[in-house]
Amino acid sequence: MSAATKRLVVVAEHAQGRLAPVTWELLACARQVAPALELEITAVVLGQEPQPLAQEIARRSGVKTWAVEVEGLAHFHGEAQRLALAGLLPRLEAQVVLGAHSTSGLDWAPALATDLGAAYIPGVESVSRGADGPAFWRSAHFGKAREKLTPETWPLVLTVQPGAFEAAPPGEVGQGKVEAIRLSAPPCRTKVLELVEGAGADAGLGRAQVVVAAGRGVGEKENLELLRRVAGLFSSAALAGSRPVCDLGWLGYGQQVGLTGATVAPRLYLACGISGALQHTVGMQGSGFVVAINSDPQAAIFNLADVCVVEDLTAFLSALLEMAGG
Ligand SMILES: Cc1cc2nc3c(=O)[nH]c(=O)nc-3n(C[C@H](O)[C@H](O)[C@H](O)COP(=O)(O)OP(=O)(O)OC[C@H]3O[C@@H](n4cnc5c(N)ncnc54)[C@H](O)[C@@H]3O)c2cc1C
Repeated sequence: MSAATKRLVVVAEHAQGRLAPVTWELLACARQVAPALELEITAVVLGQEPQPLAQEIARRSGVKTWAVEVEGLAHFHGEAQRLALAGLLPRLEAQVVLGAHSTSGLDWAPALATDLGAAYIPGVESVSRGADGPAFWRSAHFGKAREKLTPETWPLVLTVQPGAFEAAPPGEVGQGKVEAIRLSAPPCRTKVLELVEGAGADAGLGRAQVVVAAGRGVGEKENLELLRRVAGLFSSAALAGSRPVCDLGWLGYGQQVGLTGATVAPRLYLACGISGALQHTVGMQGSGFVVAINSDPQAAIFNLADVCVVEDLTAFLSALLEMAGG
């Protein structure tokens, strides 16, 4: 690695041997940030067997990728990831570090910024060009305002909202180089003992083209049947819920959308009785078309809805089903 080259480093997100879609979105964001700063775009994959994923990134994006084998990092462990990155990134001359604004990204990114003495901008949704380099935009006040930030110092750690940047379509763009690095187990203060997959984790949410999502406004568990019947009108649909609905046990946690749940980007997202808290919308804002049904005309979900239905959801969904003959 050349000491003179300053880099933008994308930290790949992956689980169970597969790259998370947000990794390609991070690369899309990187392409908007790196040229103005004259940085080389690179990626790192950390894990126990990072080679295949590093190869996939290098092949599909053309960027140089480091396969960083970290002893003992069999499952995601925020502390181990942060310590490994804190040791590695200065060696890579990282000026900008990009991670996902996801549960795992939020686990390591703020602490990493502190370790590196870096500026930290979380939740980036878009990039614009300012006089002195890129400026970063994110939502503020539960989506009612937008905030523009620029770093005063370098290096810079950014987390990027899943769904905010459009990933380049998959394709072969010329093989990037893959370099292997081995790191010994970081000196963690915590240890992951076990990883237990949640019940219903494979709810088909990620693949569904239509997601019908229930919020607390559904009122009672029995009303979910209406949403199930609406989902049944489509050939590729899944039922999802906000966190309160999953906390109440009306749906499994595998069906929760949001910061601590799944990130989905279906063609149609039907939000039924969901207020639009940021912790929910981060998980669905990449949806192609959003229809929100809420009895409160001021509900924040209407800020990102394409169609706003101010109505009692049971009345609206019943009428919809009647019209559709479902
Ligand atoms: C660290 C952290 C992580 C979190 N992670 C998540 C997450 O992953 N996912 C998530 O969803 N939340 C998450 N939350 C919770 C989040 O902050 C909100 O509390 C939650 O999203 C609210 O869910 P809701 O919209 O269903 O309920 P509420 O905010 O209670 O909204 C219910 C809505 O229903 C409407 N309504 C009521 N009755 C009717 C009716 N008859 N017809 C139509 N509309 C009606 C109301 O006007 C209201 O807007 C998290 C919170 C924290 C602190």
